[in-house]
Amino acid sequence: MTALYLPSLVRIGGGALNELPAALKQAGLSAPFIITDGFMAKSGLLDRVQTLLAEADIQSGAFPDAVPDPTVTSVEAALAALKRGVYDCVIGLGGGSPIDTAKMVAVLAKHGGTPSHLKVPHVQDEAGLPIIAIPTTAGTGSEATRVTVITDEKTDEKMLCAGYAYLPHIAIVDYELTLTMPRRLTADTGIDALTHAMEAYVSKRASPFTDALALAAMKRIWHALPIACKDPSSREAREQVMQGAFEAGMAFSNASVALVHGMSRPIGAHFHVAHGLSNAMLLPEITAWSVTGAQSRYATCARVMGIVPPDAEDGAACTALVAALRERNRELDVPSPSSYGLQESRWNDLLTLMAEQALASGSPANNPRVPSHTE
Ligand code: NAD
Repeated sequence: MTALYLPSLVRIGGGALNELPAALKQAGLSAPFIITDGFMAKSGLLDRVQTLLAEADIQSGAFPDAVPDPTVTSVEAALAALKRGVYDCVIGLGGGSPIDTAKMVAVLAKHGGTPSHLKVPHVQDEAGLPIIAIPTTAGTGSEATRVTVITDEKTDEKMLCAGYAYLPHIAIVDYELTLTMPRRLTADTGIDALTHAMEAYVSKRASPFTDALALAAMKRIWHALPIACKDPSSREAREQVMQGAFEAGMAFSNASVALVHGMSRPIGAHFHVAHGLSNAMLLPEITAWSVTGAQSRYATCARVMGIVPPDAEDGAACTALVAALRERNRELDVPSPSSYGLQESRWNDLLTLMAEQALASGSPANNPRVPSHTE
């Protein structure tokens, strides 16, 4: 038996944002609270959304101060703002950070508590306020997932919080909102999505349903991401990467992520490396380490992405896959951890704690090759 969890209402494609009022009405929602960040407020996107809603007689409130890699403090501030009005749903507008903030606020508004009490192994299945996700990056797939990631700034821990309550009820997936992303953000968020697709496919919890989504996603992202990075105005490439990120989100939310994400979260939390970038730094090396656990699956990734011909032998395909991932990092100017400035002395001090935090998130247990604490 496979249980599947997907957003109930999806509008996808160029101009999908205009469907927001109709989607809210279909869902019986009439008083949204929008959580977004400073860029969305300054760029005029928040105004555009509020005007769109007002034209449909839907009054909304807004919190424009979500922060990258949302912290407990920023979640508390957004929750306090929501409580000053009367709202029946929460919209996350922006990259993964505002969407994840919205998810946690939606749960706390209904159930109380704190993010620290909700981290894995706790599973929050009982729904909070309905969540509407409007991504502006093509990366996290948070619009389709049952997880949110909140940083406890006191312990520098990126807490994974999981359960049905975090699954958006409505996802508005409009690639036009990603056209403003600069090259570095495009590359980092795109590799995050590629990592979701690959990890969902090699995950021990993969199913035929998640396989189909993961393979479609990795093929799309592998081909379109370099084009979107070279030519940020390419609507076709933007659409492919956005759709791939959404497919990858659905795939990993119903399978899982694995060792790359498990190790990436502590690096992000302790060294403040953007989520997509820490995934990118790890993906080739962890793939190289993991291939023996699922050689034929990794070989399929290489074939589907067009890295090797369809008749390539598994071992050769895996070798080519690792080489292509390393080459892709060079092409997209992904720095090594040391050239990015992660100090070796601090790194060594934190290794034991980071390994503990990685394993505690549960993600590494889904990797085809499961590491020990020492490894
Ligand atoms: P982000 O939301 O942190 O945004 C990064 C920066 O990009 C911000 O300054 C933002 O204003 C800017 N930005 C966003 N959209 C833009 C656009 N269209 N044009 C120009 N600038 C834009 O970045 P992200 O990578 O999307 O999200 C990362 C967060 O998502 C991390 O906290 C990560 O842990 C989390 N995450 C969550 C899930 C999930 O399923 N819940 C999955 C993966 C990652």
